[in-house]
Amino acid sequence: MTAVQAPDLKHWVTDVPDFPKKGIVFKDITPLLGDPGAFKATIDALAGPFESLGVQQVAGVESRGFLLAAAIAQKLGAGLIPIRKKGKLPRKTVQAEYALEYGTDSVECHADAASPGARVLLVDDVLATGGTAAASARLLETVGAKIVGVAFLIELDFLKGREKLKSQRVHSVLHY
Ligand code: AMP
Repeated sequence: MTAVQAPDLKHWVTDVPDFPKKGIVFKDITPLLGDPGAFKATIDALAGPFESLGVQQVAGVESRGFLLAAAIAQKLGAGLIPIRKKGKLPRKTVQAEYALEYGTDSVECHADAASPGARVLLVDDVLATGGTAAASARLLETVGAKIVGVAFLIELDFLKGREKLKSQRVHSVLHY
């Protein structure tokens, strides 16, 4: 089997127009997750820049972020922190809010998710407007983590989400 190269990964990302609502082009990564070579190349490409940075925990954002973060954590020999939507975690949590087109939403993690100063890599599948990732980064800092980087499989450049993560080292594998 010839190894899949990172630039070829777009082949396994399917555009779904008007999902979940009109005007959104949803980036479906399930074909990529379903292909052994493409999934491996994805995890290698996401983790690569952080391999020598002493990452102790990888934080994944619900829910597609979990799928990538868990595999990256295994590759880097790190633990996993799930960052969840409101009301899903059973013990004491901290929250961070972010703005939606109408109203606000929030993400949360357990208050003891990271030990003080833990070196954490934050991961999600798509960087769009950046609200989710910026709130997740604030959340991790609130619980005492040191964020060594933020990694995305896909960055929608035209939405300029990167501007909300100016203080972070941002790595995206695919750009649209
Ligand atoms: P944002 O907070 O605007 O950066 O949105 C990022 C979150 O929404 C991520 O958790 C993504 O999974 C999801 N998301 C936003 N836009 C898309 C898209 N076009 N396709 C798939 N997921 C998206």
